[in-house]
Amino acid sequence: MSTINPYENALKQLQDAAKLLKLDTGVYDFLRIPKRILTVSIPVKMDNGRIKVFVGYRVQHNDARGPFKGGTRYHPAVTLDEVKALATWMTWKCAIADIPYGGGKGGIICDPHKMSVGEIERMTRRYAYAISDIIGPYVDIPAPDVYTTPREMAWIMDTYSALKGQISPGVITGKPIPVGGSEGRGEATGKGVAFCIREGAKKSRIKLKNADVAIQGFGNAGTFAAQFMEEMGTNVISISDSKGGVLDKKGLDVEKLIKYKAKNRKVGGFPNSKQISNEELLELDCDILIPAAYENQITKKNAPNIKAKLIAEAANGPTTPEADEILFRKDKLVVPDILANSGGVTVSYYEWLQNLSRDYWDHNTVINRLEKNMVRAFNDVYKTAMEYKVDMRKGSMVLAVSRVTQAINNRGIWP
Ligand code: NAD
Repeated sequence: MSTINPYENALKQLQDAAKLLKLDTGVYDFLRIPKRILTVSIPVKMDNGRIKVFVGYRVQHNDARGPFKGGTRYHPAVTLDEVKALATWMTWKCAIADIPYGGGKGGIICDPHKMSVGEIERMTRRYAYAISDIIGPYVDIPAPDVYTTPREMAWIMDTYSALKGQISPGVITGKPIPVGGSEGRGEATGKGVAFCIREGAKKSRIKLKNADVAIQGFGNAGTFAAQFMEEMGTNVISISDSKGGVLDKKGLDVEKLIKYKAKNRKVGGFPNSKQISNEELLELDCDILIPAAYENQITKKNAPNIKAKLIAEAANGPTTPEADEILFRKDKLVVPDILANSGGVTVSYYEWLQNLSRDYWDHNTVINRLEKNMVRAFNDVYKTAMEYKVDMRKGSMVLAVSRVTQAINNRGIWP
């Protein structure tokens, strides 16, 4: 894990946008400081009969444009600053997607891979109870993130509904379909990344047919991105997970790799592939790079060695601000996280709309609407970047910050 503080990166990005927009210093402070930070202790009776206390967070960054919205991360390396950064990025992401939400994020410091299903359920339900006073369908709507899945979302929805005495599917998104989940939510982030790559390839004149693609991370975001890149005719040459990566210059068979990973719990050792490290994957000779794991993977140290022409950030915060400058100077097109991975929250919004209206949309309706929204968002950001003569990260930040600022100004400061 990197020691670079993601919250400092998030603040630097905001500072850059504030300068470009000549933002009022009061509004800048409003956007810099999260509206509410909740730290909770989560006592859990473990399978051995002993009590273990976990620490969890819910950070609500800004709700000028609508209820707070953002995922819940389970990971041993979760820190409050990481959750603050992720909550801040959610505010910008929802503004770029132009959906009526603000930004929030949650996390628990834990290692779910070393816990039983029962322990994870008891921890999840106790966390849901601990944050239940500050979440709600019109207040703050959590969702999945790293190492949380529809299963955990169903437990949170059930616990919240039990506490409030009414079924409340709209309190959380990313649920299983039988309890109010949406068609297309599982694949939404990967699909959105693929739409952005298609649009980005047009701008950077990359022919997608047989373009070489490397993907770091093979979870929800990485797996679906890999499938869609293969469907679009690219050659997925390398994929990694936390234990390392595999490379086959002729192209990996993504479906076979998914089955291999499900059986072996790692991509390493996949037949006919060469073993490589996560660091080597980032520097591979390829056309398109998709970081889909964690923060701070592309830094000033390895940015000079990145060969891909187009980098689409499925992960949140994979590139540091110094690395951004280097990539921009090298004429790389970086499709920033708050745009590239916004497909997830966009379909979460569709799920929420279906929950509030007790309706169900079919798969085509969801994906067609997602595609339209992603293409519009990509072009809005690209246009802003061209207008300000900056990279797409700064362009996306300028667009997001100006939209949130407009909402703050329209609402005014109460009292
Ligand atoms: P996930 O838990 O499904 O998968 C995480 C993947 O990363 C796993 O394959 C894991 O093995 C791998 N990984 C862990 N440590 C790694 C390391 N050091 N190097 C390389 N790979 C490593 O999580 P996810 O939902 O796919 O999230 C991945 C990233 O995408 C995160 O940054 C998350 O915030 C972002 N994201 C996800 C969604 C979503 O809808 N799932 C939406 C927006 C953004």
